[in-house]
Amino acid sequence: MSKADYVRSQTQFRNHTCHWTGCKAQVPPAMWGCKKHWFKLPKAIRDKIWAAYRPGQEKDLQPSREYVAVAREAEAWIAQYEGRQPGLDFGDHP
Ligand SMILES: [Zn+2]
Repeated sequence: MSKADYVRSQTQFRNHTCHWTGCKAQVPPAMWGCKKHWFKLPKAIRDKIWAAYRPGQEKDLQPSREYVAVAREAEAWIAQYEGRQPGLDFGDHP
């Protein structure tokens, strides 16, 4: 079974929310987050999460150091992204 098939076959077997800061959507533990937020991440970060993800890590709760590092990178990216949402940044306008 490919990694993609594995992830697609996974269910919501426990409480697990999207990793996007503040999102409360329930997603299968094999997935990083809800579709909407996953596709908001830059492709470079998505590729890294996908590469570092190991099928089963959500069950034995032993993600690799690489996975934890890229999960943090995504979190930092989200903070930056949300910090420059239009309407919140008044600094550039006279
Ligand atoms: Zn989400």
